[in-house]
Amino acid sequence: VATVVVTGSASGIGAACADRLAAAGTTVLGIDRHDATVVADLGTAEGRATAVDAVTARSGGTLDGVVTCAGLAGAPSRAGSLLASVNYFGTVAVLDGLRPLLAAGTGRAAVAISSNSTTIQPGVPAALVAACLAGDEPAARALADEVGSMATYPATKLAVAHWVRTSATGAAWAGAGLRLNAVAPGMVDTPLIAEGRADPAVAPLLDLLPIPVGRPGRPEEIAALVDLLLGPDGGFFCGSVVFVDGGSDALLRPTDWPAAWDLDLRSAMQKLSPD
Ligand code: NAD
Repeated sequence: VATVVVTGSASGIGAACADRLAAAGTTVLGIDRHDATVVADLGTAEGRATAVDAVTARSGGTLDGVVTCAGLAGAPSRAGSLLASVNYFGTVAVLDGLRPLLAAGTGRAAVAISSNSTTIQPGVPAALVAACLAGDEPAARALADEVGSMATYPATKLAVAHWVRTSATGAAWAGAGLRLNAVAPGMVDTPLIAEGRADPAVAPLLDLLPIPVGRPGRPEEIAALVDLLLGPDGGFFCGSVVFVDGGSDALLRPTDWPAAWDLDLRSAMQKLSPD
């Protein structure tokens, strides 16, 4: 029986992923702050270590998949530093920490939940993205508190997407037979969005988002994509950031990607064989 870890399993997209996997006979080890196999706070170094240790013990040292859904939305009353720690550093710590267990398994795939805020929210703070990718949590937390959690949110999700694309093709992941991808959902009806709707400062911003298909997504629709990326039918996905957003990104950024590039032979060769 396959064993898959799902963070943020107590609610929304994580709960839908856990339900779908469990219905197919997979053993799901959920990590969340409450109502989970492993109760841990991924916003702290201690909580991340507790989560990795507990999963290592409960799984017997072997995993077939990891899905990172735990995350917090921006809100005027929420500190940016909390989002930096949970959304980025909590995600990367779980993926890094559980990678050796995945290498011992048979499924060998991980999926991180990013967001289409990465491409549709203007003014994403680049210095914060860079601090995350540099692994400098104190600097990222300080910058996040400066810009606030509303701007921190897309920065953490952009950093996750870039970390996935950078890591997926390297020796630790593709080189070791492990697949790593990200999903970038648009607005999905979950308690996270309900929280925004209940906030008079956030609700009007949510109403600004155009969704060409005419409705928000359902958590089950995201879980179906995660399932595909985890399983054998997703075997050719590597380093992809798959947008599933009812068309919002295509509407607002129709010709920004795929993007043409000029082939500089030397840098291309370096990418093909970094050594
Ligand atoms: P949700 O609030 O329903 O679920 C998030 C879960 O993460 C909760 O169970 C919560 O307890 C858990 N969590 C939060 N902080 C944690 C911490 N410190 N340690 C452990 N667990 C923690 O939200 P959702 O909408 O299901 O979001 C899931 C993921 O999808 C998030 O990363 C979110 O940013 C992302 N996302 C959501 C949407 C959307 O519209 N709902 C869109 C794009 C991306």
